[in-house]
Amino acid sequence: MRLPDLPAPAAAVSARIRDLIARYVPALASHREPGLAAKRAGWLPVSFQLGGIFVLHPDGTVALLPFDPPYRVQPEDTPQWHLLARVHAARLYPELTDLLPVRTADAESCKGCGGAGQLQVGSAAVDCFVCVGLGWLEPD
Ligand SMILES: [Zn+2]
Repeated sequence: MRLPDLPAPAAAVSARIRDLIARYVPALASHREPGLAAKRAGWLPVSFQLGGIFVLHPDGTVALLPFDPPYRVQPEDTPQWHLLARVHAARLYPELTDLLPVRTADAESCKGCGGAGQLQVGSAAVDCFVCVGLGWLEPD
């Protein structure tokens, strides 16, 4: 089983991302400066990680923006992180649900999480490390 491919977003979805960037206001004071730096550079913050913020470009590209100055967007090449960023983008912004890959007829529910995409660890829900929060996988 493997993670699905991630096609480039449709023009309408890219337009929604650009609109969200224009309206973006950092929700957390602790992320104000890097969040505003992302906005100025044309990226939408979508996922807060230990090392920084995964940011999404209107063309579907995912990058990492460190929490610390000078807040330069760094390319991110790991496919799992691209999927995680899209899953988190769809959770944060329901109008970006079209960023998620479409489940094919051959896809199977993830055995790691039973198809939920998340696991309960104590009182916290964490993303499944097998399907990266999607809940299903494609056949090899
Ligand atoms: Zn899973």
